[in-house]
Amino acid sequence: SVTHLSGNWATFTDSLKNNHAHQLSLITQLTDDIQLEKLHFHIQPQVNLADRSIIGGEVLIRWHNQYLGQVSPAEFIPLAEQTGLIYKLTDMLLEKVFHWASEHPRLLETQRLSVNISALDLLQEDFAKRVIKQIQSHQLSAKKFTIEITETSVFQNNDIVHNNVKLLHRTGFKLAIDDFGVGYSSMQNLVSLETDELKIDQFFVMNLLNDPQSQTLCRNMIDLSKALTIISVAEGIESEEVLQLLLQWQCQVGQGYHLYRPMTPTDYLTLVG
Ligand code: C2E
Ligand code: CA
Ligand code: CA
Ligand code: CA
Repeated sequence: SVTHLSGNWATFTDSLKNNHAHQLSLITQLTDDIQLEKLHFHIQPQVNLADRSIIGGEVLIRWHNQYLGQVSPAEFIPLAEQTGLIYKLTDMLLEKVFHWASEHPRLLETQRLSVNISALDLLQEDFAKRVIKQIQSHQLSAKKFTIEITETSVFQNNDIVHNNVKLLHRTGFKLAIDDFGVGYSSMQNLVSLETDELKIDQFFVMNLLNDPQSQTLCRNMIDLSKALTIISVAEGIESEEVLQLLLQWQCQVGQGYHLYRPMTPTDYLTLVG
């Protein structure tokens, strides 16, 4: 009936409106909080699977807003990318991470840190130059930092992206290809970018036990890394069984809730100190 239809329509437009309002308030709050440098970060330890020692950690951004509460990066990072807020956000986060690291010089004697960079950052002509300036102003060694970039961003064959990656590399930064296996990739690109690490996407790792296809893909990614002398990193390890499989296939590094959850920088210092 018509009433039934219009009833549905009302619910539909309401949810659209709410969704739109929600997005708008997210953008407004994110703009303010980036300006006030209110975002912070957690660190998830990365483990050498052979002896379970902690070799470093992945920096993961966290945002708690006074009105919206805790918002997941999976929700606000894409929004920051769509609105251009990502540039200031990356800049602010790197500044915080470098500052924190420079206050704990002993940490980087044994550990290295991985940071996530957006594809859009790499499309900025002066990105590498600015990051190098930042790290030099904190008197840190770039060798202790790995830059994680998603597959799709580096394999778009863009000169600006490649020049940025090359300059960062020459300065000492390591390069990790994040979410490997999800997008399109070629061995040629892995070689020409001098990739240091492949991060096998957690989608494959999580499905290892009950999906033969994920097993085949994982094994192949680990073998490919080995052939190219690239370190393989598996993320999303949630059980001992999965860890044992990866170890058997000679995957070198792992992270996941079974090992350690992302934690505050203070807890991380306690753990590795
Ligand atoms: P990612 O780079 O693939 O990071 C891994 C995500 O998996 C993190 O979620 C981490 O908390 C989660 N994780 C780790 N181990 C496990 C596990 O065993 N099981 C499950 N289910 N999840 C696990 P998080 O922190 O919510 O970040 C989500 C995504 O947001 C990241 O995916 C990354 O793409 C993006 N992101 C996070 N921090 C930053 C940042 O500082 N800059 C940029 N550009 N993106 C970031
Ligand atoms: Ca990552
Ligand atoms: Ca990933
Ligand atoms: Ca991901």
